[in-house]
Amino acid sequence: MRRPIIAANWKMNMNPGDTTEFLKSFLSLIPGKCPVDVVVAPPFVSLPAAADILKGNINVRLAAQNMSDHDAGAFTGEISAMMLKELYVSHVILGHSERRTLFGERDAFINSKLAKAFESNLKPIFCIGETLAEREGGKVEKVLERQIRKGFKGIEAKQVGETIVAYEPVWAIGTGVTATTEQAQEAHAYCRSVIADLYDMETAAKVRIQYGGSVKPTNMAELISMKDIDGALVGGASLDYRSFYEIVKEGIEQVSSS
Ligand code: PEP
Repeated sequence: MRRPIIAANWKMNMNPGDTTEFLKSFLSLIPGKCPVDVVVAPPFVSLPAAADILKGNINVRLAAQNMSDHDAGAFTGEISAMMLKELYVSHVILGHSERRTLFGERDAFINSKLAKAFESNLKPIFCIGETLAEREGGKVEKVLERQIRKGFKGIEAKQVGETIVAYEPVWAIGTGVTATTEQAQEAHAYCRSVIADLYDMETAAKVRIQYGGSVKPTNMAELISMKDIDGALVGGASLDYRSFYEIVKEGIEQVSSS
């Protein structure tokens, strides 16, 4: 079994004060040594507050929600990998559907950010997923294959094996509509088969693929019980520490029961 990874994407929520309060309460619930990887992704301005609490913590890692593909220079409003690393950040969410649809990020740009993340020793959480129109048009596989092939262009197998892929059907993000476990499992297995085809079976077997899209404490157990679902990327339900803990707890129970 791959070690599950459950991540909170707070989007543009949680100021530094909220972040401190959340993490203090959340950490008090996490048992000694957590058998699943837990990651939180606050907005940039709350990263220092999170780093103050998480430095030295063995259970919860810190992620940024985005990153520049440049090292430094005249890129107003951008944040570099090195800046993030100074703030104890170990992971970075790249290619989230909100970045793709609202901010026009394309596959090649995301690929460039993935390369920068690896060069900087940050672990990417690489988001992919189809829109409702693409699903209804029978294009799920075509879209996922394109996003994976273009996203991983020029990236070595070893790095791909360490990537966390987040399959997030766009129609399920923030809508309250979750993909059925069968739909999610089918898409995850397909993503793994594309990676096997592009690289090899060993690499594909290593990649952890999270599901994202209206994950809640009530649907997590079923999702995480599926063969190719290795965790979750959680938006709305991660804003409350109890609800995020309930989701993490389902991951812990899945590990204990397997
Ligand atoms: C997300 O933003 O990555 C996400 C999955 O959001 P939600 O859980 O709110 O659907």
